[in-house]
Amino acid sequence: DVLLSENIDFAGLLLSDAVQQGLSNAGFEKPSPIQLKAIPLGRCGLDLIVQAKSGTGKTCVFSVISLESLHLDSSSTQVLVLAPTREIAVQIQDVILSIGSAISQLRCHVFIGGLPLAQDKIKLHKCHIAVGTPGRIKQLIEEDLLHANTIRLFILDEADKLLEENFQEQINWIYSSLPENKQMLALSATYPEYLAQQLTSYMRDPVFVRLNPKDLALQGLVQYYELVPHHALPHKQFEVKVQHLLKLFSQVSFNQCLVFSNYQTRAQNLSDQLCHKGWPSTYISGSQDQTQRLQAMSMLKNFKCRVLISTDLTARGIDAEKVNLVINLDVPFDSKTYLHRIGRAGRFGTQGIAVTYAAHGTEEQHLRAIEKECFISMKPLPDIISSNLI
Ligand code: ADP
Ligand code: MG
Repeated sequence: DVLLSENIDFAGLLLSDAVQQGLSNAGFEKPSPIQLKAIPLGRCGLDLIVQAKSGTGKTCVFSVISLESLHLDSSSTQVLVLAPTREIAVQIQDVILSIGSAISQLRCHVFIGGLPLAQDKIKLHKCHIAVGTPGRIKQLIEEDLLHANTIRLFILDEADKLLEENFQEQINWIYSSLPENKQMLALSATYPEYLAQQLTSYMRDPVFVRLNPKDLALQGLVQYYELVPHHALPHKQFEVKVQHLLKLFSQVSFNQCLVFSNYQTRAQNLSDQLCHKGWPSTYISGSQDQTQRLQAMSMLKNFKCRVLISTDLTARGIDAEKVNLVINLDVPFDSKTYLHRIGRAGRFGTQGIAVTYAAHGTEEQHLRAIEKECFISMKPLPDIISSNLI
């Protein structure tokens, strides 16, 4: 697949002039392997279950398919994209508008909780592509502000997340409000077996599009771990890990760093400590309101901060291209979460490193289990880390 993609540019995918222009404006010259594989199938109208590791360009896959499917002479909503978090929804809109930059009539809007409903009503007067989180989209359909009956393409980004229990009821409701005759796309880095089955039941003979499924981890990324002494007291354990982290920061040079913790309360504490030590930092957590979360994201994107601390709730799908260091302050609870976390660095083949801190004992065992499940082997973090590691 990789070899094949080297010889084919977007023109080889027979896209419209406007979309090709948009891709080129966005700086996308050649399709990534998953784009090469999925875009033609999607344009044929097939239902797709796309599986490709983080950072391989899945957003562009469904953006191109969406844009190519539009009837621009109508102002009705034709494409509905669901995303599990507000931040991802906003990013998807950015990508669609950028790839659609040469289509002057194009209207694509975001509908997320935490922003007033009155604005949504105005946006929906003309909206070809609606991108949103399940709660708000359901509400808009319920109140008949968003007309579900004109939707022809239904997209689930981070599909595995959207099919989890907390979204289940909303997704089912939205799905059943849509016309029977429509195309559906699901995209994610991982699909547990039962979710794949569930997706299949929503779709009409879906095609699974995946690259090498055994190679879920990222290529441009070197993965390290460091074992630290175990402490029974959680705050002591936290302190020990923070000491290790500070040492690492003083030794490696990095562009930007994402730090993940399993605990929401630690995010703010760590951010405060880092700022105090002179590292411009901020945090993003589920306890913040929408404005605060978007602000944290834009600080990262505008280089107002070097370090962003996050919990898993807020992390998925965040595409911060300058991030080349990912820290797991705690070993994530499962391997899927591990892959999603480290997928935040080394995007699209750039270099990066991931460091996971694990306390001796249970946490160390978790780490080994993740290695096995993800077909990866992490290296111990070298004692003296040279700055050319990154
Ligand atoms: P995924 O959803 O698979 O995790 P994204 O869609 O967020 O990945 O894309 C990851 C990064 O790769 C983004 O910064 C995006 O701009 C970049 N990218 C995607 N496709 C291409 C392409 N064909 N050429 C260059 N960069 C691309
Ligand atoms: Mg994505």
